[in-house]
Amino acid sequence: MDSTSTHTPLPTGKKILITGATGLVARTAAETLAEHNEVWCLGRFSDPEPERRLQDRGIRTRRWDMAGDGLDGVPDDFTHVLHAAVERGEGDFEEVVAVNSVATGRLMTHCRAAEAFLFVSTSALYAPQALDHRYTETDPLGTESAFLPTYPVGKLATEGAVRALAVTLGLPTTIARLNVAYGPHGHGGLPVIFHRLMLAGKPIAVPHDGQHYCSPIHTDDIARHVPRLWAAAAAPATVVNWGGDEVVGVRDLMAYVSELTGVPVDFVPSDATRAVVAYDGTRRRSLVGDCERSWRDGVRQALEAHFPGTVTAGPEAVAGSKREVFHP
Ligand code: NDP
Repeated sequence: MDSTSTHTPLPTGKKILITGATGLVARTAAETLAEHNEVWCLGRFSDPEPERRLQDRGIRTRRWDMAGDGLDGVPDDFTHVLHAAVERGEGDFEEVVAVNSVATGRLMTHCRAAEAFLFVSTSALYAPQALDHRYTETDPLGTESAFLPTYPVGKLATEGAVRALAVTLGLPTTIARLNVAYGPHGHGGLPVIFHRLMLAGKPIAVPHDGQHYCSPIHTDDIARHVPRLWAAAAAPATVVNWGGDEVVGVRDLMAYVSELTGVPVDFVPSDATRAVVAYDGTRRRSLVGDCERSWRDGVRQALEAHFPGTVTAGPEAVAGSKREVFHP
């Protein structure tokens, strides 16, 4: 990625703590920030490969399981914190609420001297509205998810803990409600996960009456935005919807993946869809500016990273029909 962008100057000489860096969302940010800063990553590192890759970039790693570990032995003089680790849960609401809230409380308390704390929340905690509604930060919240019931409950509970500690500790904080993220690392995000279904010959569940829309954001843009989200941190916490510039229908997105890869896509109407939402990006643009990757270019890049050699369509597919895309 272009780490010399004039739009989002990267911090230098800072001491940065990141959780969730082995996953999709925070890995690129960790690697980019490590170019000019001292970066530490906390996690379980159950898969040794991402840990080794992080260490190859000069990043220091430390074991921390949110499910019970304290932070003894971890330095407490970090200037910036990016908290992206999440326990999504497998049906146990009590566990998801307790693990995420308590671990986040421990982390904020330990890093109370930081200049800024960024908590990665989710668009999944908005109450459903019309499929093409553009959600703002003041829209009603709700925690129903047919796909992953514990997830939005855990996130909303943790947002509460984050807001409380931002104020009581006086720790400048941003809560960024991330939309559909995708990119070359980890599980790859929704386009990659759905493409795996396509490869297995399985259908993608869609609503009975139309399609879900989302504001997908590539991890390169996520990495560019992180420093600006730190700059926007405040106590009480700043809350912002964090998505890409373009609003895209999920059917249109996966039809494009099918066009690129030549793998057929089958949509099946269902009550249990993986619901996503589209954002009104006004506040995000005012805080961090625009994105640099178009979704077509970004999805092509992510597919090439996860399925080398699988993209068959030429670059003309990237510049292809825009008529199914809504621009906010
Ligand atoms: P991944 O599933 O790719 O990664 C999860 C991360 O959390 C891993 O780095 C994992 O580290 C860490 N983790 C999980 N459980 C624990 C634990 N008990 N203790 C310590 N670390 C743990 O997540 P994503 O990158 O997709 O998501 C990152 C953040 O972004 C999350 O907060 C998520 O809610 C949010 N988000 C993501 C979206 C997306 O489209 N992907 C959309 C909206 C929000 P390890 O296994 O090495 O310990």
